Amino acid sequence: MIACPKHITGRMVPELAAAGREAYLGYRYGALLMGAASVRRTPRLKGAPSAWFNSADGRLIQGFLIADYNSDRWRKGDPDRPNVLCLWAPLGGRATRADLLVEPWSHWADLMADDLESMVPGISADLTRLDVYVWGHHMVIPAPGFLTGDARRGLTRPLGRITFAHSDRNGMPSFELATRAGYDAAREALAIVRGLPKSS
Ligand SMILES: Cc1cc2nc3c(=O)[nH]c(=O)nc-3n(C[C@H](O)[C@H](O)[C@H](O)COP(=O)(O)OP(=O)(O)OC[C@H]3O[C@@H](n4cnc5c(N)ncnc54)[C@H](O)[C@@H]3O)c2cc1C
Repeated sequence: MIACPKHITGRMVPELAAAGREAYLGYRYGALLMGAASVRRTPRLKGAPSAWFNSADGRLIQGFLIADYNSDRWRKGDPDRPNVLCLWAPLGGRATRADLLVEPWSHWADLMADDLESMVPGISADLTRLDVYVWGHHMVIPAPGFLTGDARRGLTRPLGRITFAHSDRNGMPSFELATRAGYDAAREALAIVRGLPKSS
């Protein structure tokens, strides 16, 4: 069973191309920057303790998640507790995948730190560390017709004794579809092993 994104699967399983199943070449992916900002104190925002913060003001980042949200620590809401803020920046025209390869860590870290400061004024003084993660192909982008088209469906079928999982199988990035894809691929594998007719 292969549970990798389709652009990788296509390279790992050259038999797909040999069988004329090259639809993986039609998969399109977005690029994403993630930051993990360690802060001495949890930012104090208005109202109830925040789980995440969205903003349209940033040049690059769109918001951040407070890493301990949904825990008792978070529910107690002590603003003096250290924390990690998970910043996300879908590039969407603000930078390209090629820029991610060319620019150094410091370039992205500076942009993220500036954006964070514009979202939470004064937070720079509490920032102790900023890790940057560059994900060139983080989520599939389903263009119109992609979900219902034959090309994607053709890639879900087993190829000989190989079955295909990963959320890409269903054409959308989500935990639910990843789980479903694993379940379906496992059932297909069972059917192959037991010599049963394929179910999907
Ligand atoms: C920042 C971010 C936020 C998200 N938020 C949400 C959310 O709130 N809700 C939601 O439902 N979904 C969310 N998603 C989407 C969700 O995380 C993914 O759709 C889901 O995790 C995909 O699971 P998967 O098992 O299909 O694939 P993946 O988790 O991508 O697993 C693929 C695996 O293949 C491995 N691999 C790659 N190449 C090779 C190779 N050559 N050999 C061996 N192994 C290889 C990788 O290391 C990886 O472990 C988010 C995604 C991101 C990036």
